Amino acid sequence: METPHRVIAIDGPAASGKSTVARLLAKRLGFVYINTGAMYRAVTWLALRHGIDPSDAQAVAALLNATPMEFGVAGNEGTIRVEGIDPSPYLNDPDVAAHVPAIAAIPNVRERLVARQREYAKYADLVMEGRDIGTVVFPKTPFKAYIDASEEVRAKRRADQGLRDDLAARDKKDSSRAAAPLKIAEGAHVIDSTCLTAEGVVEEVVRQLGLEQSLR
Ligand code: C5P
Repeated sequence: METPHRVIAIDGPAASGKSTVARLLAKRLGFVYINTGAMYRAVTWLALRHGIDPSDAQAVAALLNATPMEFGVAGNEGTIRVEGIDPSPYLNDPDVAAHVPAIAAIPNVRERLVARQREYAKYADLVMEGRDIGTVVFPKTPFKAYIDASEEVRAKRRADQGLRDDLAARDKKDSSRAAAPLKIAEGAHVIDSTCLTAEGVVEEVVRQLGLEQSLR
């Protein structure tokens, strides 16, 4: 899909440092930062709140048909409202983390969220992070990075955040699902963040993607 705005696609496994890097990069470029994982987490939170089995595709679709979800922007970041509530305080709950891959494997959920993600590019330059941004959401963008890190470092990063999250289980489900599995997009620059600080990864992304001219 051609877009009138630039999109920097950042993909990678859980806890690879994508969110920190994408947020910092967006700030440096003056682009809007969109965390698509938060969108899948918000749907998961909604399903759990309504007592719906996250792997029941039909029930989840019916719930989404009946529920107003707003995806907007405040300042330089995406915002989410579900049934009039900002769900962000709940999105890192262990229950949400454990069930989000089941929700994210439902093609109908992905279609809806991908449509909303593409909408954002009509209005602003974006740094968008997730699992399928370079492969499915904006496959034609020339700016793609895939950020990885060793399993040990990723587990430590989550533990340092005080969060319970079975990364290996989530990665396995995200990489093996039929719909938009996590994989390195064609043309993506792979950056190993194991031994780098977040700032160091941002520098690498800027250098490898040739973004120096776009910096503020
Ligand atoms: O990035 P984060 O870890 O918050 O993403 C939570 C989950 O949302 C992932 O484990 C994956 O199941 C799903 N996801 C996805 N596609 C995206 C972003 C996230 O399937 N673009």
